[in-house]
Amino acid sequence: MTQSFFPPQRTLMGPGPSDVSPRVLASLARPTIGHLDPLFVSLMDEIKGLLQYAFQTSNELTLPISAPGSAGMEACFVNLLSCGDTAIVCQNGVFGGRMRENVERCGATAVMVEDDWGAPVDPHKVAEALKNHPEASVLAFVHAETSTGTRSDAETLCKLAREHGVLVIMDTVTSLGGIELKVDAWGADAVYSGSQKCLSCVPGISPVTFSPRAVERIQARAHKVQSWFLDMQLVMGYWGGDSKRAYHHTAPVNALYALHETLVILQEEGLDNAISRHQRNHKALVAGLEAMGLSMAVEEAWRLPQLNSVCIPDGVDDARVRGRLLRDFDLEIGAGLGALAGKTWRIGLMGHASRQRNVILCLNALETALK
Ligand code: PLP
Repeated sequence: MTQSFFPPQRTLMGPGPSDVSPRVLASLARPTIGHLDPLFVSLMDEIKGLLQYAFQTSNELTLPISAPGSAGMEACFVNLLSCGDTAIVCQNGVFGGRMRENVERCGATAVMVEDDWGAPVDPHKVAEALKNHPEASVLAFVHAETSTGTRSDAETLCKLAREHGVLVIMDTVTSLGGIELKVDAWGADAVYSGSQKCLSCVPGISPVTFSPRAVERIQARAHKVQSWFLDMQLVMGYWGGDSKRAYHHTAPVNALYALHETLVILQEEGLDNAISRHQRNHKALVAGLEAMGLSMAVEEAWRLPQLNSVCIPDGVDDARVRGRLLRDFDLEIGAGLGALAGKTWRIGLMGHASRQRNVILCLNALETALK
């Protein structure tokens, strides 16, 4: 007989998922109710308001997509692009490459602006691309590149897009709740995130928000969005402002209890306090790593506090060290991804896992594993 599954109690300090708090885990065990139950519809309204707070937006079309961050990404591209369109896509890590895939699968052309992995997106190159491609209708970039631990200057990139009248698609999967993110003040148009990073919710939900400009573009589409599930005009019927909600798909009811609880916790702590906590723990971790003789892979100004890329010292066996942390300390840290595989470790201090206790645990465990 196959037995029930009881996972060990790990400490998740990789690139996500991050540790889910007991309070959020407990919310999952509450009774399932119907996804059109009036009480559930009220919960949906609260989730929307809480997401508007997290994204710092008053966008009416703000909701959690019932699927992981990649679905949020795809929702932004398939709704804003049509066959024959052009999008400028910035790539400085893995996820810019995934954006390119999305553009091309829409039958659109991706004009790539490339930067080194571990460096931020260069606004000068973006300004050049916008000037040279007046046919472009979208600028897409990743705010917090999880593959490298690098932040890009989202505010400046959005400003450039505004000056050229193009819409911005911004990936905030790793930034939401961990670093400053101001959707309305910066003027981003289609923004997606994930539940499993700095929100510390269970994986599998993708918060998204669309500006009135983006909604206008969606409503003016000449052709149907090729994805039925991610067609925002259909999803709006379920999540829209109208109190008469139409069935679109069966929402992941208990996962949305968890998202609600996560966002209530964020509201209780306050966004600014959560951001300061991420910064404080990051500083402590970096000080400890440097005291051990390790060096950071990203220049200080562009480091993500929630995802710390550390250079693996010469002669150290990457997989052996990570294996030891998992076996002896129940501690997960991330391997380098793509071009940085075998060269860096990625140490996450995301959401509920961004705690002093975890900083100390990680430093002690790494010191032991490196002996
Ligand atoms: N974008 C970024 C920056 C990510 O870090 C991730 C996941 O790590 C994704 C998109 C995709 O999210 P998911 O794995 O939830 O589909």
